[in-house]
Amino acid sequence: MASLKPLLELQRVDTALAQLKHRLATLEERTNLTAATTLLNSFNKELVSVTAQLKVTQQDIESLEIDNKKRESSIAKYLQQLKTIIAPREAEALQHEIAMATAERSANDDKELALLEVAEQFDRQQLELNNQILKQNEVIEQAKRALASAIEQCEQSKLELEAKRITMSAIIDPELIKLYDLKKNKRTTPAVADLHKATCQSCHLDLSTVELSALKKCPEDVIPECPNCDCYLVV
Ligand SMILES: [Zn+2]
Repeated sequence: MASLKPLLELQRVDTALAQLKHRLATLEERTNLTAATTLLNSFNKELVSVTAQLKVTQQDIESLEIDNKKRESSIAKYLQQLKTIIAPREAEALQHEIAMATAERSANDDKELALLEVAEQFDRQQLELNNQILKQNEVIEQAKRALASAIEQCEQSKLELEAKRITMSAIIDPELIKLYDLKKNKRTTPAVADLHKATCQSCHLDLSTVELSALKKCPEDVIPECPNCDCYLVV
């Protein structure tokens, strides 16, 4: 029976490499960075919306102010006219115009006051969002550094494992490695395993006493295989 122990070690390195590949693909640090970026995007989107609303409010305030300037100049004009008018009916008409313009100006003032409050609120929101964006950018920078460091760690482990694999492969019969590769490529569980008592460490099923003793009597030119999952077994 050929010794499969070096091949089992090789399998362990390959398992570690596969786990590393999976870890690299599912790094928590990458998920964190994505979540942080999503949050930043939502802050930016909100900022755009608040800024647009603030602009509209400011434009409304400006229009009211322009309108009030017109009213004021009308009032001033009417007051001037009032000084030169003698006919009571005309004076009455002018006074009516002045009263109307004054009422409109006052209504505009009320609207402006309300809009100023709204604008102030948008201003506060804008400030708050800018702060949040600033902080979130820091969070993202940190997340990027964490991800880069995790990737570097994985790459380092990968290099170490690959070097180990080369050293190990050198002491194993190339024909055996070929057989192992064939078997490995056809399955997701380990292609080589040992037994813990009667349990195959690839499929985790128990072998019967008869199966065990048959395996132990395996001739030199036959590679022992698990009767359940067909993996090579170190017995
Ligand atoms: Zn098995």
